[in-house]
Amino acid sequence: MARYTGPVCKLCRREGTKLFLKGDKCFTEKCPVVRRPFPPGQHGQGRRAKMSEYGVQLREKQKVRRTYGVMEGPFRRYFRMASRKRGVTGATLLQLLERRLDNVVYRMGLAASRPEARQLVRHGHFEVNGHKVDIPSYQTRPDDLIAVRASSKPKSRFPIIKETAPRGVPPWLEVDAPELKGKVLRLPTREEVEVPVQERLIVEWYSRRG
Ligand code: SF4
Repeated sequence: MARYTGPVCKLCRREGTKLFLKGDKCFTEKCPVVRRPFPPGQHGQGRRAKMSEYGVQLREKQKVRRTYGVMEGPFRRYFRMASRKRGVTGATLLQLLERRLDNVVYRMGLAASRPEARQLVRHGHFEVNGHKVDIPSYQTRPDDLIAVRASSKPKSRFPIIKETAPRGVPPWLEVDAPELKGKVLRLPTREEVEVPVQERLIVEWYSRRG
């Protein structure tokens, strides 16, 4: 399964906003978006031309894709899936991304960032409804019980995470931090997706380019 392995802070600087990919560092003064608030590269500090409609839509799509750590191919598949479902395509797209197991683990506070959540899932530290699941893109459903596997609790970062979780758990999830487990109560609404994005622009992007 392909994933981006380059420097992640550059992605935030490119999008001009915090994507929260580095855990605790994102909340400190060391965050490069705070220290160097301009795009990366040789011409990052140069004069900025007004962005075209194409550019605005592209940046919005890239921002969401990078926030959730999804490559272009799977992201396009999420869009197709969303456009086939009933309801508003943009909101459904965000809902599908929020329901990913790695995102749910992050939103439950059982990992400091989405990339860390993805790695912990990939390494087989989580189970869903009592069964080991090591697929970060696994789509969770209402009433799913998500827990750190008993054999993993003393290992990895979980003893530290137990102290810090939960932090800002959204109302569609429930967390039992001391037991390192939680439950999906229902599907998230658009308002509960905290990523600052205009999903309409992403729909326009794919509608024009297929
Ligand atoms: Fe982005 Fe976090 Fe790096 Fe800041 S510290 S640039 S928010 S990944």
